[in-house]
Amino acid sequence: MTQRIALVTGASSGIGKATAELLARNGYYVFAMARRMDRLEQIRSDNIEPVCLDVTDAKAIQAAVNQAMQTKGRIDVLVNNAGYGQLGAIECVSMEAAHQQFEVNVFGYARFMQEVLPHMRAQKFGCIINVTSILGKISIPGFGWYAASKHAVEALSETLRGEVIDFGINVVVVAPGLIKTEFAEKEFELLKETAHPPAYQKLLTALPCLLAHEPMAPEPEIIAKAVLNAATASFPPVRHALPNDSKIAVVARWFLGERLFDWGVRRKMKL
Ligand code: NDP
Repeated sequence: MTQRIALVTGASSGIGKATAELLARNGYYVFAMARRMDRLEQIRSDNIEPVCLDVTDAKAIQAAVNQAMQTKGRIDVLVNNAGYGQLGAIECVSMEAAHQQFEVNVFGYARFMQEVLPHMRAQKFGCIINVTSILGKISIPGFGWYAASKHAVEALSETLRGEVIDFGINVVVVAPGLIKTEFAEKEFELLKETAHPPAYQKLLTALPCLLAHEPMAPEPEIIAKAVLNAATASFPPVRHALPNDSKIAVVARWFLGERLFDWGVRRKMKL
């Protein structure tokens, strides 16, 4: 049987790394992509080929997809996962930082989708897995630009699903809740760089408390397994929210309605 080929972005740490390794263990040949080549080299193997790229660089993405097609002749799975969280109050996050959030989390995904789709259409087969977030369907104070970027990916995924299903291409969203990775640490580094007036002190105190459970959060392998399932199942769920906090948040918002949900969130955050 022909070996399946996967592209995984954000593979130098966390969810992307766990996903690249799990796909490789399950017989896929994986092009593992990120900017930190030293990290990627640590997972290089017979089935994992590191590719150094920044998802904001359209030419590098084009070259990476061409490289995969030229050497392997097909791309079965794209896992769009590279991303980060721009924390901060809407009033305070600079427009430059907001643009950068979308450049990576939204246009980075879109660039990859546009590059692989012609190949997937030609081979009449493919699976695009977009990693969004618990904040892809809800939002909470302090996470505005990040949540907006993930909502945008949810909308693009839903749209694309209807556009390409007849070409034999599945589009799946995997929406993680809190997972133990480098993500939260990087969020707080960025938050420190964003100046807030004293009026936002309560919010600045609440944000670290919200993520204080991160050390107890599940390991990234739980998401990698959901990605593998999405890649291999004939009829994968179109949106896979996990662990439970990610499912419950969406149901709670639907059940409580916006006002009550907002009140509950503000209460939990002690705002
Ligand atoms: P990590 O910070 O551990 O990993 C993020 C990955 O994205 C790294 O490999 C990083 O690689 C890569 N990346 C970031 N910016 C770029 C860029 N400009 N170009 C190329 N690669 C880039 O976090 P996670 O594994 O947790 O995050 C993976 C995905 O999961 C993200 O989309 C995130 O939004 C989502 N998620 C995570 C949650 C969590 O609690 N951890 C919860 C919900 C969603 P490098 O720096 O080497 O380029």
